Amino acid sequence: MSDTKARPGRVAITEYLEVDLRTERWHCRRCNHDIEAARNNYKEGLLVAQRDPREVHRPLINEDRYEYTFAPDPEWCRLVEFYCPGCATLMEVEYLPPGHPITRDIELDVDAMKARHADKLEETEQ
Ligand SMILES: [Zn+2]
Repeated sequence: MSDTKARPGRVAITEYLEVDLRTERWHCRRCNHDIEAARNNYKEGLLVAQRDPREVHRPLINEDRYEYTFAPDPEWCRLVEFYCPGCATLMEVEYLPPGHPITRDIELDVDAMKARHADKLEETEQ
């Protein structure tokens, strides 16, 4: 929460994400990019890249001889990477089946957060 002094009204959520409780917006903590409404899924405001999991998890046995090589099967699994549009920081990585909808891993109770930080929000409005 030390960032709230640097940027009044902001609350750090993850290493790369923070929320501005005054504007109710997600922001990048590295470049301050305005990502998405805080009540929405932050991933909808990020750049998405889909990768073949074999690029990261190389086959452990000869793929010419064996159908299964201990590497994830790209027909069943994809690496989905989420990047900040402002600074290209990799913010999140998921393993999902191809075509799977974007997941929502953080859902903030914005009203409860605003109530909890009400004293700090009033200070910044002066
Ligand atoms: Zn950024």
